[in-house]
Amino acid sequence: MNSFLKELRDAIKDFLERGYSSEDQLITWMERLRNATDEKVNGNDYYTQVSRRFTAAYDMEVNREKALKRHPGVSRFTLNYVEPKLRSELDRRIMAATDLIKLNRTQAVDKTLQRFSGWATSIPPITSISPGLSASSRSGVISTSQDIAKSAQQIDFEERRVMIDQSHKLIANIDNIIATEGGALAAVWHSHWRQPNYDYREPHKHRDLLAYAIRGNWAMKKGLMRAGDNGFLDEVTQPAEEVFCRCYLTYVYNLRSLPKDMLTKKGEAFLLAA
Ligand SMILES: [Zn+2]
Repeated sequence: MNSFLKELRDAIKDFLERGYSSEDQLITWMERLRNATDEKVNGNDYYTQVSRRFTAAYDMEVNREKALKRHPGVSRFTLNYVEPKLRSELDRRIMAATDLIKLNRTQAVDKTLQRFSGWATSIPPITSISPGLSASSRSGVISTSQDIAKSAQQIDFEERRVMIDQSHKLIANIDNIIATEGGALAAVWHSHWRQPNYDYREPHKHRDLLAYAIRGNWAMKKGLMRAGDNGFLDEVTQPAEEVFCRCYLTYVYNLRSLPKDMLTKKGEAFLLAA
C-alpha cells in the first residue's frame, strides 16, 4: 500500500503546484496510481499472507491442542477424528478472508481514486500568468487533499482489521465444529472487558461467564437437561460474529459441570445414581 500512498501524495502535490492543466495530466496520474495498487502486502500476495497467518493459528489451536483448553473432556483422539472438518474450515476461511480483503481494497481504492479525480479537476490551472486559486479556496483544496490521503491510509488499517476479525472467526468456527462433534452440552461466554483499552461491547460484558445451552444435544434429547435462564447459545450473536469482537466460549461436556438451573429432575436423579 505504501507505493500507492506515495504516488497519491506526489499526484496531490503536482495538482497543488500546477492545478488541473490538461486531461492528459489526470490520465497519466490515474494510470500511475492504478499501477501502484498491486495486490501485494510485504512482498506477498494476499492469499499467501492470509494463508500463512491462518495456518499458524490453526497449528497452535489444533496440532498443538490449544483449543482443547476450551473443551475440557475432549480427547486428542476426538480432535484427530474431526481434523478433516477443521482442515476444510481452515481452507474455507483462508479463501473467504482473501476475497474479502481484495474486495474491500478494490472498493476503497476506487473510492479514493474517484475522490482524487473529482478534487484534481476542480482546481484551475496555476501558471505564472494566472495565479489560480485565491488564498481561501487554496486552503480548502489543501484540506480536501489531506482528507483523501487520510482515507487512503485507512485502507491498510481496514486490511489488518479484516485479517484479525477473520482469524478470530476461524477459531470460533473450529470451536463450533469440536463442540458439535464432541457433543458439548453448554457453552460459557468469556469477554475481555477487564482488559485495559479493550473496546468491549456492553451486551458482551453482560454475557461474561454466563452459560448457554446447546440445542439438540444428547442430554437434552434424553430429558436430563434444559436451557437455563440464559437460554440457548443460538439465540445470541456468536463470538467473533460482530466486528472486533474477541469474546470466546469454553464448553461444558458433562452433566455434573452444568449450572444447577440447567438440570431437570431426571438429570439430578441420574447424577445421584451415577
Ligand atoms: Zn464480544
